[in-house]
Amino acid sequence: MKQNSSEKKHVVIGITGGIGSGKTTVTEYLSKRGFPVVDADAISRNLMYEEDTAFEVIDAFGKGILDSHGNIDRKKLREMVFCDKRLLVRLNSIFHPKIRERIEKDMADLKKEGNDVIFLDAPLLIENNLDRMVDEVWIVSCSKETQIKRVMKRDDSKRTEIEQIIKRQMPLEEKLKHADVVFENEGSIADLGEKIEDALKELVKRI
Ligand code: ATP
Repeated sequence: MKQNSSEKKHVVIGITGGIGSGKTTVTEYLSKRGFPVVDADAISRNLMYEEDTAFEVIDAFGKGILDSHGNIDRKKLREMVFCDKRLLVRLNSIFHPKIRERIEKDMADLKKEGNDVIFLDAPLLIENNLDRMVDEVWIVSCSKETQIKRVMKRDDSKRTEIEQIIKRQMPLEEKLKHADVVFENEGSIADLGEKIEDALKELVKRI
């Protein structure tokens, strides 16, 4: 991200990683440390409940996408786009520009408030080219087995379901090519906290 020399320097850092790798654990830690975190998933979820977006989605996918309360059924939508690539492209064309716009607005507000370091929590940071909006990419990683065990425990979900999700996600090796910092999250949560503190110390030297 280009900085104007007359402007105060800001750093935007994207946090990403595969399912259950520990992204939320990292961003919660950063929030507790007082850093602002923009949550791309929350932005996307909230958009779904906005009238303009809902109309566009219904227009593209039909009323069959609504639940009994007349709201968009996100599970149905997920299933539809999972089965049909063209529908996924259509959905992305509705959502991506809006998500980007909201992220930019949130970041601009946070910068105006005087925040020098801003984090962007985005599970699909690289897949959706949101890494273009950040100065650094920090990736949370762990082995597939650890991902599976942690998500099974957290969500009470089945091993096969998580394996399917991991299979559909961008391979970790691919993601790591974009990383400026990697948190190997195989140890305890306290170990992860120490790694975050080290990364923050290094960040201070860079900005
Ligand atoms: P998702 O992609 O599904 O949103 P995530 O990447 O945000 O997941 P978390 O929710 O942070 O991952 O972590 C997954 C689970 O593993 C959570 O229950 C979390 O408390 C736990 N967890 C994360 N890191 C550790 C760790 N180092 N030791 C033990 N448990 C951990």
